[in-house]
Amino acid sequence: MGAAIGIDLGTSNSCVAVVVDGEPRVLADDQGNKTQPSVVALGRTGSVVVGHRARRNQIYAPQSTVASAKRLIGRRFDSDTVARIQRNSAFDIVEGPKGDARVKVGDRVLALPEVSAMVLRHMKEIAEKALGETVDQAVITVPAYFNDHQRQATKDAATIAGLQCLRIINEPTSAALAYGFNKSKRQHIVVYDLGGGTFDVSVLRIDDDIFEVVSTAGDTFLGGDDFDYAAAEHLLHQFEQEHGLDIRDNRSAKMKLRSAAERAKVALSTTDMVEIEVPDVVRGPDGQPIGLSTVMTRSDYAGIVNHLVQKTFLTCDDALGQARMSARQIDHVLMVGGMSRAPVIRDAVMHYFNKEPFTGINPDEVVAIGAAIQAHNLTSDDPDAGSSVLVDVTPQSLGIKTAGGFCEILIPRNSPIPTDASKVFHTAQDYQTEVRVSVYQGESRMAGDNEKLGAFVLDRLRAARRGEVRVRIGFEIDTDGLVSVVAEDLDSGTTRDLRIEASSSLTEEEVQEMRFDELGF
Ligand code: AMP
Repeated sequence: MGAAIGIDLGTSNSCVAVVVDGEPRVLADDQGNKTQPSVVALGRTGSVVVGHRARRNQIYAPQSTVASAKRLIGRRFDSDTVARIQRNSAFDIVEGPKGDARVKVGDRVLALPEVSAMVLRHMKEIAEKALGETVDQAVITVPAYFNDHQRQATKDAATIAGLQCLRIINEPTSAALAYGFNKSKRQHIVVYDLGGGTFDVSVLRIDDDIFEVVSTAGDTFLGGDDFDYAAAEHLLHQFEQEHGLDIRDNRSAKMKLRSAAERAKVALSTTDMVEIEVPDVVRGPDGQPIGLSTVMTRSDYAGIVNHLVQKTFLTCDDALGQARMSARQIDHVLMVGGMSRAPVIRDAVMHYFNKEPFTGINPDEVVAIGAAIQAHNLTSDDPDAGSSVLVDVTPQSLGIKTAGGFCEILIPRNSPIPTDASKVFHTAQDYQTEVRVSVYQGESRMAGDNEKLGAFVLDRLRAARRGEVRVRIGFEIDTDGLVSVVAEDLDSGTTRDLRIEASSSLTEEEVQEMRFDELGF
């Protein structure tokens, strides 16, 4: 057996860590980078480049570079989210054979687990180089709100990358583990995670080594990028006022202002005031460059992005509301994600929760460190390790479709996992020999508005008068948050394991076919 690592498979960046001699260590690549862009560039000849080199490729070959694959993983092609992502992506998104979203680069169509597998494989290779040994097991983190499809697709990605996925754990749980909350008495913790493109907040209850995600809420389209757009908009307005020019349709000018806005944001994390110089925003009628030169203070910046900061607290209100708690009942707040370095965020979080947030561990590395600790706990012979039992909750309700298109909930959202529930079905018609059951995840009362996990048919029932034949269907959600179904024919006493025919994920055979080791990738 090789080493067991922890991987934070992030939307914008990924990070890998391992526990060596009882201490977690983040592993760097040859250049000393401790995080890698989750970006994959595909060459015309079939070559694959991942990480920093792939991100550089994005500038001159955006159509053949896939970024933010995590936003698409486990999603159906015909969903609103996919349409929204397509509007902002240079690469094409196409429909897979089972209605799943896939990406098209040149004449290659890739399933999302294949793209994520390329990122995981890259992280595995970095770890193997840094450790000088084979790595074949990993704990991989996912957002707490990930549904069954997204978790299954992430597990498939690990298999394709040649990694045995020891456990899928929730990102906030992982952050809490990194901060060493596994040896603590009962307390409530909020994990505030503001990254480049997404915002997640979770309320955790930790009690004697048991971690329970009590509630989660998030905004999948709110992150550092939006802060940069807002500050760029401010700079654009300033430029237009100063020069009487309209540059709203000038893409290159907007790009320059956006990168100036991001640099200013990062600088304002360490200084109170920053000078912004963009020498040639546009060329004037005489061909001479027209530039922008201005200063921005921390308090100017706070005013410009205040609406975005407040938006994160609406999501916090939602998470606290679901947990039936107030901000003052929270014992500790942990900060995760690159944006949590910004004082404007830290100050606002301190104000909202009325306590100093924890920022001691690098916010880009904290999730991978927690995953490494969990990987160590699951594989170590040390009797002290392994004591930390993680209890997560189901992020979304699990239900079945009933007459009239309604969704009957069997396992409510935020139930601790593993968990199970069962329901007895009666035949509805005389001599009916099969029952079709459709399984959904989501909070809407109408099944059609929820995510369809799949359907199965229970056949070979005894032909009898309606209502005479009864079948108990048991639903189980395991520690990875994955759903399975068992049926018991109460009439004959036989039981059967049922596989939900997932409507969008890969089959076992497809995963095996895609494995890089089989393909010699
Ligand atoms: P993540 O997705 O967690 O890697 O976060 C990336 C976001 O964090 C981007 O919007 C970055 O601009 C932002 N970021 C990184 N470093 C800093 C910093 N020192 N101050 C403010 N924002 C930062």
